[in-house]
Amino acid sequence: MTLTILFAAGEGDFAEYAPHLKDALAEAGLEAALVTEAPPESVDYIIYAPANPLRDFSPFTRCKAVLSLWAGVERIVGNPTLTQPLARMVDPALTRGMVEYVTGHVLRYHLGLDAHIHARAGEWAAEPPPLAEARVVGFLGLGALGQACADALRGLGFQVIGWSRSPKSLPGITCHHGDEGLKTVLQQSEILVTLLPHTSTTENLLDARRFGFCRPGLCLINPGRGALIDEAALIDALDAGPVQHATLDVFRTEPLPEDHAFWHHPKVTVTPHIAAATRTETAARVIVGNIARVEGGAPLLNEVCRARGY
Ligand code: NAP
Repeated sequence: MTLTILFAAGEGDFAEYAPHLKDALAEAGLEAALVTEAPPESVDYIIYAPANPLRDFSPFTRCKAVLSLWAGVERIVGNPTLTQPLARMVDPALTRGMVEYVTGHVLRYHLGLDAHIHARAGEWAAEPPPLAEARVVGFLGLGALGQACADALRGLGFQVIGWSRSPKSLPGITCHHGDEGLKTVLQQSEILVTLLPHTSTTENLLDARRFGFCRPGLCLINPGRGALIDEAALIDALDAGPVQHATLDVFRTEPLPEDHAFWHHPKVTVTPHIAAATRTETAARVIVGNIARVEGGAPLLNEVCRARGY
């Protein structure tokens, strides 16, 4: 039977993805028509990104799964017409990108690179940076991305601690959960990385009260989602302590408006949502692998839990 796979993503994405999806489908031995338009009742799977105008999933009565090209699903998970199973993107190349981004920015703070980059002639700072083993790096979120980044930093010798919704036991990482666990991670971290999804329970997680728990001199790296942070509280925490510097990759409004305070704050580094892109070649294989699983009677991988919102 020939499957009908509807590709519903941004303009231009189809040209990039189609050759990789076709190769992966052939490798998996799946016969499929990969299309950008089709009668909804004929569609077996939807490959989706919110850049597409598709919002009403109810006519897709035969659709066995919606496969997100994005790791973050906050723009689709609450859609009441979406009753089909939804898989989020877990792409090995995206994960490697996030590991590189987080490691790079952690090392910037750990080594105090800014002081040397901006040093004036004749400035001869004699203080060498401590070794990684003397530095505590905390992670809020120990999922696919948080765990991969935490492992990489542990491999470099950092003391790594983390916080997640459910209790975890991970080699070499001190894991916490619950309100007290969050407080502990905030109190102990010298560098804090936020890799949580945006849900009703993580919105404004870092607010004035939580910043109040943070260790003075904290460096914050947020490649998770902008809505995890109360922006006004962060500006206060940068101006009056305890946050020394913040590197922000994601924002409530993207692109970040030119007049936004973050662009102009001397203690904020803005990166334009480039921490970890979905890479077409590997993502195509992940998507087709998931379709092949469902066609073979296995459960969908990386299925989003609607109740939790991620
Ligand atoms: P994931 O595998 O679903 O992991 C999410 C983690 O957050 C899990 O450890 C989960 O806890 C924890 N969590 C969720 N809600 C929580 C809560 N209320 N309290 C405590 N912990 C909570 O997601 P992922 O693949 O690692 O991705 C994380 C996020 O990164 C995405 O949602 C997206 O927003 C962002 N992202 C950004 C970029 C970029 O380029 N900037 C790229 C990709 C993704 P449990 O383990 O207990 O479930």
